[in-house]
Order: sequence, then C-alpha cells, then structure tokens
Amino acid sequence: MILPIIGYGHPTLRKTAQPIDKDYPNLKELVANMFETMYAADGVGLAAPQVDLSIRVVVIGFRPYDEKTDTYGDASEEHVLVNPEILEYRGEKKFFNEGCLSVPDIHEDVLRPESVVVKYYDADWVEHTDVAQGLYARVVQHEVDHLDGKVFTDRLSNLRRTMLRRRLNDIASGKVRTRYRMKMNK
Ligand code: ZN
Repeated sequence: MILPIIGYGHPTLRKTAQPIDKDYPNLKELVANMFETMYAADGVGLAAPQVDLSIRVVVIGFRPYDEKTDTYGDASEEHVLVNPEILEYRGEKKFFNEGCLSVPDIHEDVLRPESVVVKYYDADWVEHTDVAQGLYARVVQHEVDHLDGKVFTDRLSNLRRTMLRRRLNDIASGKVRTRYRMKMNK
C-alpha cells in the first residue's frame, strides 16, 4: 500500500523518532508499504517519520535504471534499518547532490563523511553492523537525520538556506505539486 508522504514544515519531521521493540505490531507490513511508497516516488530512501510515524525505521533501496527501455530492474541492493545507530564516521567529507521526497524539487550539494559504520536490526530482528560506503553511506546519513528531526536543508550554509526560504515556505504551505501523494501539513 502506498502511504502519503508528509512535507517540509510538518511537525512530525521535527520530532526525535522513538526506537521500537520486538513487539512492534506489523513491522513487516510497514516495511513493505514503505518500500512500495519509496519506489513509487522514485526515492532511494525513506524514513518512517516521512509517512508520519515517529519511529526509528528506515528503508533504503536502489534499482538500476535502464535508459533504453525506460524501466527499472530489480533492486540491486535493499536495506531495512530498525533502530539504526551510526557508531563511527570515516573518510573525508564530500559534497553530494541530495534531494528528499519531503522536500520536493529542491536538490542541493550537502557535505557529509564518505563512510559510516552503522549498527541496526533488520525486519527479522537480526542485528547487523555495516561499513557503509558510497550511495549507501550517503542515504544512511540522510535517513538517520530524519529520525533525529533533521532535514537535509538544515545542513546547508545560512546563505543557501536564505536563498531557498521562499521555496521551503511554499512546500510548508502546500504550494507544491508532486507526482506522488503528499499529505498536507497540519
Ligand atoms: Zn529525506
């Protein structure tokens, strides 16, 4: 089931999300719905707060795009991160162009470390510790920010944020059009 995504300005995006325990009801169904929602909106990551659930659950998935046929292949890499904790940041800080399904039509270069060590549980409650690199490391950091009430535009310079202020206010007041379903702020 595709879930509506909340936008910049919605109070849930500013809350610190709560860890869940093993008894959390219907976790697998939620994870399946989050993947479906993310792929339908062409995202590569989605955090539960973006679907208005203030819990520490993240899905990440990359599907290879084939230009010739204009189709997506099967997921090359999928991750479910429950209660993720970034234990360590590694490597140099690099700029990478980020966007966010909750901040439509804004893409900005964000400076973050190129690798992280992240500990989490999967949907079967098996504990993992990954040394994330490349796009995975980038998306982990972006999504864990969501769990801590941050969005990627918070990490831009004051000047850049000032320049984006009107567009961010437009999103906050619902003046934005997306191909995917968004829930109006309240
Ligand atoms: Zn995001």
